Amino acid sequence: MARYIFVTGGVVSSLGKGLSSASLAYLLKSQGYKVRLRKMDPYLNVDPGTMSPFQHGEVFVTDDGAETDLDLGHYERFTNISSRQSDNITTGRIYSDVIKKERKGGYLGKTVQVIPHITNRIKEFIKKDITNEDFVICEIGGTVGDIESLPFVEAIRQFSNEHGKSKTLFIHLTFVPFLKSSDEIKTKPTQHSVKELRSIGIQPDIIICRSQQSIPLDQRKKISLFCNVPIDNVIETVDVRTIYEAPISFFNQKLDKQVLKYFKIKSKKRANLNPWKKITKIVLNTKKTVDIAIIGKYVNLKDAYKSLDEALIHGGISNKVKVNLIRIESDNLKTNEIKKKLKNVSGLLIPGGFGKRGTEGKISAIKYARENKIPFLGICFGMQMAIIEFARNKLYIKKAGSSELDKKCYPVIGLIDEWDKNGKIIKGTDKDLGGTMRLGLYEAKLRNNSAINRIYNSKTIKERHRHRYEVNNNLKTQFEKKGLVFSGMSPDNKLPEIIELNNHPWFIGVQFHPEFRSRPLSPHPLFSSFIKAAKNHR
Ligand code: GLN
Repeated sequence: MARYIFVTGGVVSSLGKGLSSASLAYLLKSQGYKVRLRKMDPYLNVDPGTMSPFQHGEVFVTDDGAETDLDLGHYERFTNISSRQSDNITTGRIYSDVIKKERKGGYLGKTVQVIPHITNRIKEFIKKDITNEDFVICEIGGTVGDIESLPFVEAIRQFSNEHGKSKTLFIHLTFVPFLKSSDEIKTKPTQHSVKELRSIGIQPDIIICRSQQSIPLDQRKKISLFCNVPIDNVIETVDVRTIYEAPISFFNQKLDKQVLKYFKIKSKKRANLNPWKKITKIVLNTKKTVDIAIIGKYVNLKDAYKSLDEALIHGGISNKVKVNLIRIESDNLKTNEIKKKLKNVSGLLIPGGFGKRGTEGKISAIKYARENKIPFLGICFGMQMAIIEFARNKLYIKKAGSSELDKKCYPVIGLIDEWDKNGKIIKGTDKDLGGTMRLGLYEAKLRNNSAINRIYNSKTIKERHRHRYEVNNNLKTQFEKKGLVFSGMSPDNKLPEIIELNNHPWFIGVQFHPEFRSRPLSPHPLFSSFIKAAKNHR
């Protein structure tokens, strides 16, 4: 049976549970163990797919098409282990499963209750499709003491009781503040948080203390004493200079060693920290910068484009430059300001998006990048906007648009059945939008000798999608005559997946989200190439 490590958080949120779990997973994987990471979110949405980025940051998409919490992105980036649908669960999903079963009479007339029915369902999820993993790291969202997370905490307590301490480990991550006025580190919030955890039946085995500065031995002893944890299992995590230092820092604090010791097993081989050391050095010492403009609705919101921000940094790492993001709110972008805002940038990126707000500014910005030969990368919605721009200004289809934004437009972007097989556009449909997204990994064929073919160095690729609308393939010949080439197509040749512009140093649009597959230790070729072009731009 796999060993289960449960990670809870205390005192305040946003302490970096995701990063700590991901770093531990890397360390265990690098020592020869098979690891799986899972996230349990205590909110009532069935999945985060319907949540606005204002609420919850980015929606991370997995290979198998699940719309999940952004922490799964951290997990993948640090471990290079692809997450699955079954690696993220929410209270909403658990309740909806239980209620569905109840409606079918699946509980044989019993009163359906939080304990045991909800907690049983949570326990089923914890073990779901685990096969030969050595470790399953399960992060519980929220902070201990929240009403919302109680059923999860109760479920992991039961789980540990049923499977025994030799198969389960509790890690509690807390905050240890430093009070400037008294020049002191305070352990009381940690004591209280552990007390809270113990009151619901869980004694942590390891406490990770997040702190702004190193915690003196005396204070660590105090935490050990009051929280009933061996001193070696009081691990500190001091703010790192870059997140890529986190695995190194946890290794130095012997987190992995204590975990293995707890389970009475040995490391199969030495953890390899060299790749992290190498990129930390690059990130900290690189002086040269490139300015990349990013235009979107949520650009000033931390985490709204988390994977994208990360992928751009990865592209910078592979080119030894620092990527400086110039964030431009599309809502406030006036057409007459575009030149002023873009004339000095080395690249323009239009990310994924939904809805009409701010689209005309994006379209004008793409025109500027196309005409002034500024490297351009359009992702999903960004590619769709590039198609609209080109159709309007080079094919002279003045009413060109997307039926997502304007039902009366000429849909160069639309739902697949808005044009018939002979290329004739038929009236826009008013279909229900639920469950109609193209989600997850899809294959694309790349055209020989195209820029994209050289970038990927491959004839076919697989990338993750999250969109409902597609490029109208019936205008392909017209586009290509004018120099906008459909260089990547779905295997059946029906859906344009990649566009690129001839006679432009670097102008590429992709219908998928390459950012979800970029890793700090293996930057995505599209981002490396884009940043390289930006670096050469000036
Ligand atoms: N709104 C567009 C669509 O649904 C693009 C989505 C996206 O950029 N992820 O097709």
